[in-house]
This record gives sequence, structure tokens and C-alpha cells, in this order.
Amino acid sequence: MRVTTGWQADPTTGTLRRTGLRRRALRPDDIAVRVDYCGVCHSDLHAVRAHTGEAGDALVPGHEFTGTVTEVGGAVAGFAPGDAVAVGNIVDACGTCPMCTAGQENFCRAFPTLTYGGKDRQDGTTTLGAYAREYVVRETFAYALPAALDPAAAAPLLCAGVTVWEPLRALGVGPGSTVAVAGLGGLGHLAVKLSAALGARTSVISRTPDKAAEARALGAEGFVVSTDPDAVEGVRDRFDVVLDTVSAPHDPAPYLRTVALDGTLVLLGHLGQVDVQAMDLLIGRKKLSSAGSGGRASTAELLRFCAEHALTADIEVLPSSQVNTALERLARNDVRHRFVLDLSDLD
Ligand SMILES: [Zn+2]
Ligand SMILES: [Zn+2]
Repeated sequence: MRVTTGWQADPTTGTLRRTGLRRRALRPDDIAVRVDYCGVCHSDLHAVRAHTGEAGDALVPGHEFTGTVTEVGGAVAGFAPGDAVAVGNIVDACGTCPMCTAGQENFCRAFPTLTYGGKDRQDGTTTLGAYAREYVVRETFAYALPAALDPAAAAPLLCAGVTVWEPLRALGVGPGSTVAVAGLGGLGHLAVKLSAALGARTSVISRTPDKAAEARALGAEGFVVSTDPDAVEGVRDRFDVVLDTVSAPHDPAPYLRTVALDGTLVLLGHLGQVDVQAMDLLIGRKKLSSAGSGGRASTAELLRFCAEHALTADIEVLPSSQVNTALERLARNDVRHRFVLDLSDLD
């Protein structure tokens, strides 16, 4: 066993407190990573809330992080101590099912092992996340972090980034495409940047007009106020792809109206039940889809693309001692556009 320090959810108070944690001893294909930066994802907030008042396994959130390799197992070939690495929200998968063989380990039929709150495939223990100074991971689920990328601003690429990257790539977005992004949080702001960098004409759909300047700064050429019927009518049947990253429950109909003939509305923010009129799909043969996380190949591809395009998240870095403040502010959307924890205060 290895010992480290991290931030664990306290089920009575619903806050995180600093505590000692154990990591497994390195298996032959494991690497130990000193966690330098970890993004604060909406799922972390949901996990802490769901954990409050429950007598469950220990919860340490954190599943988009960058760090430095400190030690490698005997069979590790791809990494050496000192290497900069990045890890996302899955840390293992069966490797043999049709999803895994298609390079979509994130959809593994035997369920991918989540970075926290997952079940280790070998010893059955519950995985603890990267709001901690050290993480131990199979080398196949760690990615070389390109030197061109700032390690703090790159951390959110590993969950928020790849979640919007996969649908953009799968739907063939590139020059000539029209894309709209609804919601400008962690996912949405990266969706605008990535879509624009892929060469698509990109717009933002927002409930309020006050995000227009922000949208343009991220690379959007168009801006649509979703609560203005005339504005929505003006972009009716316009976009090949609409990425809906709004995390609160909402009616997808206004967004569906903006989807072009044979285009796709991708639900990424709110993953609960949705009510859709079939007629809103019928007229224009529109498609409804979703996505989440990423396979190993596309995660590595995203990091290469971001290095080429000097593209990272817009972040606010906080010392990890302010993790509870970060979660509170995220809960009221007081963030532009992603909090990233600096874990060096855990030494
Ligand atoms: Zn996440
Ligand atoms: Zn699998």
C-alpha cells in the first residue's frame, strides 16, 4: 500500500475534508502519478451531493487531471519517472468487448472502471479520485501530456474536453459544417473552441444576451438568444450539429428547431429523462443523440489536436484547500469556465 493525502467527502456535512488515503502498491503495468492539477467537474458536485447522508464507500472526487510520473511498474514501457501525463474519467475497461475493440472503452459493455467511485477490476476495491496528491493508474489509461499544453489548463480536456470532442469528430464536423453550442460552462466553452478550431462555423445559443461577448471571445461567430422566438426562428433548420451542454433539466424543443435537415442534436449536459415530440424529429429527419467521456484513441487524438492549436480550457486555479468553495461556486454557476485545483498544497 502507498499512502497519500486527499479530499474526501464527509457524508454528514456534505463537504470535503483533508485526510490520509491509501493507494494500491504498483502492479507491473501501473504508474504512480503525482497529481499536480485536477479539474472540478459537474459530476463531482453531483457525486458529493448524492453521497451526503448516505453510508456508502469513501468518496474522493476528481477525474480530469494532469501530473508527473513518479514511479513505474516493472512491465511499463510507455512512461518513465518525470514524464508529464494526463488522466481522464476512466481508468480501465475489459479490452475485449465490441465497444472496447472499436476503441470506445468509455462504452465498455462490462462497464469501464471509473476514476473514482468505480470498482477496481482486480481487487474489487472502490476507486478514489484525483482530489489527492497521488494516483495509481494502468499505463494504458494515462496519456502523454504534450509539452505545449499548460498542465493546469489542460486538465479539463480529459473529461469536459473529450466529452464534446467525440461527438464533434463522430459527426464529421469540419470546414463547411455549422455547429451551435448551448450552454457556456465547462463543456460548452470547450465545445465552442474545439468546433471553431475544427473549422466549423460556430454559434452559441444562450438563454440570456449577456454572454454574447464571451461567446465571440471563444471563437463563435453567431449568437442566438434561446428565449427570443424571433431569434430562434431566424436560425431554424440551420445547424448540422447542436451540442446541448445545459446541465439543468430543460425542454430540448427550441434547440431541435435549430437543427438542419439530417442534422443532430447531441444531449451532453443533462442526462435524465427528456420529452421529445416525434414530429420535431420527423420534420427534417433530425436525430437525437448523446455522448460522454472518450475512448483511449480519441482522448490521445484530442491532446494532439489541442497541442497543435494551442487550445486549452479557460480556468480559475484554486489551491486544493479551497475545494469546498470551488464546489459551492460551481453549484451557482459562478465560474469562468472551469475550476482547477492545484494539489501542491497537500505536500
Ligand atoms: Zn467529469
Ligand atoms: Zn469492454
